[in-house]
Amino acid sequence: MRLVLVGPPGAGKGTQAQFLSEHFAIPHIATGDIFRVNLREGTALGIEAKAYMDSGELVPDSLTNAMVADRLKKSDVANGFLLDGFPRNILQAEVLDAILSQAGTQLDAALELTVESSEIIRRLAGRLICRNCGRTWHLDFDPPSAPGVCNDCGGEIYQREDDNEATVLRRLEIYSEQTEPIVGYYRRQGVLISISAMGEVSEITNRAISALRAAVSN
Ligand code: AMP
Repeated sequence: MRLVLVGPPGAGKGTQAQFLSEHFAIPHIATGDIFRVNLREGTALGIEAKAYMDSGELVPDSLTNAMVADRLKKSDVANGFLLDGFPRNILQAEVLDAILSQAGTQLDAALELTVESSEIIRRLAGRLICRNCGRTWHLDFDPPSAPGVCNDCGGEIYQREDDNEATVLRRLEIYSEQTEPIVGYYRRQGVLISISAMGEVSEITNRAISALRAAVSN
């Protein structure tokens, strides 16, 4: 299963990616997570990406594409992968196609998660993330038992710096201007699957698994 997840910030890509990568036994590759690890470790890539991430802009394609091309050379992607947060514009989608076609393969599906904009703001406003395992929590809908501590792994829970109102609004603009066109791109390729990402997390996971199974068995 070679899969990309598409959807605005707050659609639940990261949350669903965790379940789907486990279900299909494929690595979850989240470009935002890779940038955040680089930022934390103070690498040259992290330092370069920081200003873009802080303001909600896209990190330049040259950096992002090279990072993804490198990641897709690792042996764990031989039987598939789930890309989360990449591609984010048409050029990145074309680069991904080129990387895959050079490897003699192609995408099986682009799964779009659709969500109402009022819900996006509600989700992002209280979103919390475990620094250790990456599990997402929510201040109101899914709080950890002890504040600041991940129930799953005991790691420290934090709020992303770019989950503030001004940056969220900019990220949403970028999504509709630059990222949404990839929905049409994948529709034209015949690999697009759209599901509603409204409702309970487990309901959405089941919806995604059924839709993917149906699409891939065709
Ligand atoms: P995310 O965790 O996917 O919301 O990504 C956080 C931030 O990382 C984004 O707002 C961008 O600044 C940067 N980023 C993540 N993925 C990409 C990408 N594919 N292209 C450019 N920038 C990205």
